Amino acid sequence: MELPQHWRLADQRYRLIGEKCPHCEASIFPPHDVCPECSKPAGSLYTFAGTGTVYSHTTIIDAPEGFDGQEPYVVAMIKLDEGPLVTAQLTDLDGPPEIGMPVEMVTRKLRTDGDAGIIVYGYKFRTALEHHQDEAASSQDTAGK
Ligand SMILES: [Zn+2]
Repeated sequence: MELPQHWRLADQRYRLIGEKCPHCEASIFPPHDVCPECSKPAGSLYTFAGTGTVYSHTTIIDAPEGFDGQEPYVVAMIKLDEGPLVTAQLTDLDGPPEIGMPVEMVTRKLRTDGDAGIIVYGYKFRTALEHHQDEAASSQDTAGK
């Protein structure tokens, strides 16, 4: 079944929706309709867990229009746990991001559009909270011994 393009685009702002190839099991993001791995139709939509690790990152000093006042901010390529790479802004950083740092998706205000001041929301990534909890738990273990 073909879904209307606008619906798919709107939904993708809030959830990481890609495809799972029924032929070769490849995880595909963003949706291509044709699997980049095996070139067969990749029809089944798949919602990614939204967790991954930082693959590379860059700091944006000169923000494009609509992002004014947010700079400097960090844009990273995230390697999702399912495999694909996704580009997104990092948020809530305690310090400089590290390659391989676990991150998770959150929904945040992205930018303000035009004079009407329409606020656009979408996904960003932050340091995975589980990672923090794991660190706290392991340091407690060490302290108890
Ligand atoms: Zn495939």
